[in-house]
Amino acid sequence: MRILPQVSKDIDTIRMEKQKKIALVAHDNRKSDILDWVRFNKGSLSKHILYGTGTTGGLIADELGLKVHRFRSGPLGGDQQIGAKICENEIDFLIFFWDPMAAQPHDVDVKALLRLSAVYNIPVACNRATADFMISSVLMDEAYERQIIDYSKIFAKN
Ligand code: PGA
Repeated sequence: MRILPQVSKDIDTIRMEKQKKIALVAHDNRKSDILDWVRFNKGSLSKHILYGTGTTGGLIADELGLKVHRFRSGPLGGDQQIGAKICENEIDFLIFFWDPMAAQPHDVDVKALLRLSAVYNIPVACNRATADFMISSVLMDEAYERQIIDYSKIFAKN
């Protein structure tokens, strides 16, 4: 079954406010990297609303003094909680330093989170260079209309 969007009426938009709702997640071998990145960008990040999986969020809050809304630890459901918030438009930006060298017990949750990020067209950084480009974007200081393919309309037609 082909489900390619046919015309622009299959596209919706979701508004991202100037103040972004940013989720921060890092696997264990990447936690020092994310801490270093957040430390470097603390001034910019403090203007936004921050979320994190349990351990990552705790480290950022304790070591850098930023307010972070914390979910469960990733392997205990934190990635899935973030995915649910993306569906509900309560998170619209993801910094996810996953470990390319180690299998995780919750690999399926990692894949699900990345999939939902693609479905809802949110900016995602899986490495530091991408995170640097994203945080430096002029769009960080503006509202932005994110385009979403409205799959419900497409499926309804097929
Ligand atoms: P953690 O979870 O921040 O609780 O370590 C991250 C993850 O493994 O997804």
